[in-house]
Amino acid sequence: MSDTALLAVLVAAVGGVLAGLAWAAGRGRSEKRRRPGFRSSPHYSEGLHALATGQLELAIHELDKVRREHPDSVEVLQVLSHLYRVVGKTERAIEIHRALVGRRDLTRAERAYALASLGTDYRKAGFLDRAAEAYRDALDVDPKNLHALTGQQKLHEEQRQWREAFEIQTRIARMRKSDDALVLGFLQTELGREALAAGRRDAAEESFKTALSLDRRVFPAHLALADLWLEKDPRRAAQVLEDAIAAVPERAYLAFGTLQRAYAACGEPSRFVSLCERLVGQDPRDWRARLALARQLRSEGRPGEALGLLLRAVEANPHVLLVHLEVWRTLRALSELGPDEQKYVAAVEESALYVDPHICTACRYRADDMLWRCPHCHEWNTLVEERVGPAAGTR
Ligand SMILES: [Zn+2]
Repeated sequence: MSDTALLAVLVAAVGGVLAGLAWAAGRGRSEKRRRPGFRSSPHYSEGLHALATGQLELAIHELDKVRREHPDSVEVLQVLSHLYRVVGKTERAIEIHRALVGRRDLTRAERAYALASLGTDYRKAGFLDRAAEAYRDALDVDPKNLHALTGQQKLHEEQRQWREAFEIQTRIARMRKSDDALVLGFLQTELGREALAAGRRDAAEESFKTALSLDRRVFPAHLALADLWLEKDPRRAAQVLEDAIAAVPERAYLAFGTLQRAYAACGEPSRFVSLCERLVGQDPRDWRARLALARQLRSEGRPGEALGLLLRAVEANPHVLLVHLEVWRTLRALSELGPDEQKYVAAVEESALYVDPHICTACRYRADDMLWRCPHCHEWNTLVEERVGPAAGTR
């Protein structure tokens, strides 16, 4: 992870803790108690400064001194343990949280928050049963603890328990009054996939439709419906994919294969060419539409036009191996390759391993392929193609 990315994650993480604490303080206001003045410690300001500049180990070092001076300061313990978790010292975080929940002087909100944090420590450490128990305990203390609910939801997602994840996410959305339709739609899509794998086609179809009624941008639900309908009703399959592309044009390429088959099955293969032309017109950097169009043209015996398209794609996205491969194939179709070049192209086609670099817009995690859920920060629909332009100094 780059420094900027780490800092972004950290600021978000610490922001979360501070928000949680402010919230806990708000809820605990009626339970009046006085905290020692840890804020007057010079190590406290040093710790905050280190945090703000992204020096985590230094922040931990300073805040640990505050902890020793003021062993009762719940806020310091919460931030400190959170930092330990962020830097991967989960055992230390667990130790602090367990000591915290064992104390008798916590307010109800503080206890719930500490239990929920303990749950997250366990979850990160892979102790899923203990995590579930800690989240349950937190919700027993405070049924509206969002930290615990969110943790529980993630825990279900990680165990692919989509029904439970969906139900909890619905509750969270209602409590936060937030619009979680997109996430709910993705969870419905997973439910549909599960039904499909179990051979329950009708239930699957129902889930995919529900997903789209929640949010039209749930691209995999469109794809799944098109797959279901392709054989019996290719026109309907094409329609659902056109809707998908209208809703999320940047994901259009994921529908290309099925759409091409659907148009062919309807007896209208030229519609695919028009679609690609329209997409290229909308986004000149869309190498995937150019590539699809070039392949189509080559297969129709128009390699000269195909080559022109491909050369523009190379210019805009020189890092894309698939485009280069297609250039070679097109040159071969134009009979411009000698026997040695022919051999070279054949060797490249056999050995080239294609990766499709994607990056998570939430945490900067890099993946070799398109994924609907980030394996690092577990957010939905955050991966985008990582585009590399021509190197500086070139045209
Ligand atoms: Zn991520």
